[in-house]
Amino acid sequence: MNIILLGPPGAGKGTQAQRLVDKHGMRQLSTGDMLRAAVKAQTPVGLEAKAVMDRGELVSDEIVSALIGDELDAMGDQVGAIFDGYPRTAAQAASLDDILAARGRTLDRVIELEVDEDALVERITGRFTCANCGKGYHETFDPPKVAGTCDKCGGHEFKRRPDDNEETVRTRMAEYRAKTAPILPLYDARGIVSRIDGMADMDHVAAAIESALAG
Ligand code: ADP
Ligand code: AMP
Repeated sequence: MNIILLGPPGAGKGTQAQRLVDKHGMRQLSTGDMLRAAVKAQTPVGLEAKAVMDRGELVSDEIVSALIGDELDAMGDQVGAIFDGYPRTAAQAASLDDILAARGRTLDRVIELEVDEDALVERITGRFTCANCGKGYHETFDPPKVAGTCDKCGGHEFKRRPDDNEETVRTRMAEYRAKTAPILPLYDARGIVSRIDGMADMDHVAAAIESALAG
């Protein structure tokens, strides 16, 4: 299966992608994670993307679509892909069709996580991850079981994203409304969109995604 998780920043895409990876051995393809790795490694792509990401704007379609193509080529044909944070524009959606077709893959389902925008700032400003294994947490909604220790790997170091501040979040939401939400009708026309209440607790969201994928 190849699926897209779609929703504004903080909707829970990464959280649910991690669960699908753990449960079904699918692969999470997050362009945000790929870009952050490029920034850290100071590659040419990273150097170009950094300032754009810090402002909360979108990196060029060419850069992110190339990252996705390379990542798909590096994984086995039989492994299902979860697109997280991609596509984000109509041009990226068109590229994804081409990228999948060229590799004999089809897009099976688009999961739209519907959320209340007012809740997103709190979700994003409380978000942090384990610096060692990348597991995601939230100060209030999903803290580690033992404070200061990662549930998954036992690590003690955590990090926050530089763009997870209120001002940048507002720009990221505006980008979502202007450029990403308009691609949904394309997938609606194909009859492959499942809309899920992203305001429910994480276990309920995960269960709703499971039934959407089974149905
Ligand atoms: P996205 O990948 O869509 O930007 P994340 O999955 O990183 O969003 O979630 C943003 C923050 O909100 C994280 O700190 C996560 O722990 C928390 N979160 C995710 N899903 C829920 C939920 N259903 N209820 C409450 N908090 C959530
Ligand atoms: P994310 O981790 O998905 O929240 O993405 C973090 C930032 O990376 C975004 O605010 C954009 O600047 C950039 N980014 C990630 N994915 C894309 C994409 N598909 N298209 C353009 N920019 C992206």
